Amino acid sequence: DALAMPDTEIVKTLFMKGIAVSITQSLDTSTVIMVAEELEVLVDTPEPEAEARKVTEMLDIEDMENLHLRPPVVTIMGHVDHGKTTLLDSIRKSKVASGEAGGITQHIGAYHVDIEHNEKEQQIVFLDTPGHEAFTAMRARGARVTDIAILVVAADDGVRPQTIEAIKHAQAAEVPIIVAINKIDKEAAQPDRVKQELMQYGLTSEEWGGDTIMVPVSAIKGENLDTLLEMIVLVSEVEDLQANPERSAKGTVIEAHLDKAKGAVATLLIQNGTLHVGDILVAGSVFGKVRAMVDDRGERVDIASPSFAVEVLGLNDVPFAGDDFEVFTNEKEARLLANERAEVIRQSRLMQGGRVTLTSISAQAQEGELKELNLILKADVQGSVEAILGSLKQIPQNEIHIRMLLSAPGEITQTDIDLAAASGAVIIGFNTTFASGARQAADEAGVDVREYNIIYKLLEDIQDALEGLLEPEL
Ligand code: GDP
Repeated sequence: DALAMPDTEIVKTLFMKGIAVSITQSLDTSTVIMVAEELEVLVDTPEPEAEARKVTEMLDIEDMENLHLRPPVVTIMGHVDHGKTTLLDSIRKSKVASGEAGGITQHIGAYHVDIEHNEKEQQIVFLDTPGHEAFTAMRARGARVTDIAILVVAADDGVRPQTIEAIKHAQAAEVPIIVAINKIDKEAAQPDRVKQELMQYGLTSEEWGGDTIMVPVSAIKGENLDTLLEMIVLVSEVEDLQANPERSAKGTVIEAHLDKAKGAVATLLIQNGTLHVGDILVAGSVFGKVRAMVDDRGERVDIASPSFAVEVLGLNDVPFAGDDFEVFTNEKEARLLANERAEVIRQSRLMQGGRVTLTSISAQAQEGELKELNLILKADVQGSVEAILGSLKQIPQNEIHIRMLLSAPGEITQTDIDLAAASGAVIIGFNTTFASGARQAADEAGVDVREYNIIYKLLEDIQDALEGLLEPEL
């Protein structure tokens, strides 16, 4: 777009220079400069460090001169009953309520705590929808809202299926994990066993020579929570999280509902810029002017800065959690964009276009455009999982790499669907069924679920897909 040159021309230009690229490929900086020079266009290159920053999706080149540290946004994940809710509550109580006049807090989907670190006041923002359902659902919508994941594992119970799921989800999103080994007050607590088990999933504790921070805590007694918070700040320093508070705001909707009295209410997480009362914004396909903002402590505020979440009134409809939002200076332009998006959503619902299926993968392989095949495998028993994984390894993977995001015995669940949608993966079910509601979810999300009960047929289809030979089913 910047060169005002069709992409086929770029491919041709490079081809003439002996560089073969496909249309969907990314070019490195020196190649980009080379193409631009042909057209006498000057290329401005930001510092490589800034370029490599993980959150670049929310940062523009203009922001690079005005970057300031921002607080980390943290999600708590883990198996049911391991203490996610208790941990969120204890942290909130220990850090918010005590110092607050009256201690009135309000659930808006996120809260922040103030902690003292290196004699400086530091903030941490917690998304307080525990469980990874919300996290994965947001990722399925393309939103990256979490900087750090806290994985809660009960010391008396160890690694369980949802623990493993949470690890896979955080790893797939490339979010750093801090482990909170919880319930250490219990007699049956075996923190070392937890550490041992986690090693199988690529998480080795620092004390054992690995690089994963693991903090033993008791959420119920409030024990060691300060250490946990301290570790969050340390990891966030390493991550070097930045944003440009001087610009207009953009970010993600983390919760939204319709209130009878107030109308559409949405909690917005500010990921870049500063949001002001009176700002005009588009959230997903919804348009509005910020009439009022309330923070997590129930106070009316006029501005919200990077990493903070505020509840916003004034939208013309209820957006979806995971929708992105952005502030506009021109009201007409904003309204137009919201309407256009609503139309696009309507159209794509009609067409279900762009979905990843094993046959579309095969077509890509045929075109030589496929690099990676993301799979999720669910099978009846662990023995089948291992047998299939073993056989998949035998398939020659010269150009294309099979990436197994998750493999486990059990039914195909909603979270599998969410993970597949978020990662463009195909789900393989072997001798298994759908959990209730999951089949419909797969249809709605356009996720391809292939069911098999004969291993060789499964392997044959995957091999065919990788070789670009899989025929579409009629
Ligand atoms: P969640 O499903 O992960 O949100 O788990 P909850 O926070 O609801 O906790 C499940 C149960 O474990 C509750 O009965 C809690 O009281 C209990 N629990 C949570 N943390 C601790 C802890 O540190 N020690 C003990 N003894 N019990 C805990």
